[in-house]
Amino acid sequence: MRLRSNIVVIATRNEGKVKEFECLFGAKGYKVRSLADYTDLPEIVESGKTFAENARIKAQIISAHLHVPVLADDSGLCVKALGGDPGVYSARYAGENATDAANNNKLLQALSDSSPADAFPMESGHPKFLSEASFVCALTLIDPVANETIEAEDSCPGYIIGEQRGESGFGYDPLFYIPALGRTMAELTVEEKNEISHRAKALRLFLDRLPDQNES
Ligand code: IMP
Repeated sequence: MRLRSNIVVIATRNEGKVKEFECLFGAKGYKVRSLADYTDLPEIVESGKTFAENARIKAQIISAHLHVPVLADDSGLCVKALGGDPGVYSARYAGENATDAANNNKLLQALSDSSPADAFPMESGHPKFLSEASFVCALTLIDPVANETIEAEDSCPGYIIGEQRGESGFGYDPLFYIPALGRTMAELTVEEKNEISHRAKALRLFLDRLPDQNES
């Protein structure tokens, strides 16, 4: 499989994400652009029921508009005791443009309202677990000229605890506890998070599938 262009547009305006992708893609002979490099882009409604559907929707709409390969991602938190919520609504769980603090408070409220259907033994030395949970990340790259699609998805398992711990990361990190490390995601360094996170794992799978432009 070959892509027709060595330029990949990352469907984000988040500079942190762009830097991360620039480094990984550069090693494979690609130049990275982001949505900040373009004007008059079409509006995107993330109407998918899964992370993969949303990533596909974003990649399809923007690649059809720009006629270059576009990589889109979608990610979020799935909580077992809440039937997989907030899922694709993770960013707007407490409402459109909700802050991380509002989303975290809503999550704790929802778990305190839910029946403890998700009971499991608690080991000593750990905080009280409210539910099993996982972070999920889906990535889709579409090259509209070569008519090629590359997809990858991975997850990071953990538990939601009843109190926020740590200052790093973003989103639901302070409530997401990893027993093997004895810390929440917000208590990890960036490097430690990059070892285990859903996004890093999905990216590793994705990069294995991405053709190396240096070899062509
Ligand atoms: P998006 O993929 O940028 O749309 O992220 C959706 C939402 O999922 C974010 O606003 C966060 O609330 C949550 N989320 C995604 N990845 C993470 C993470 O690594 N840590 C904490 N929250 C995350």
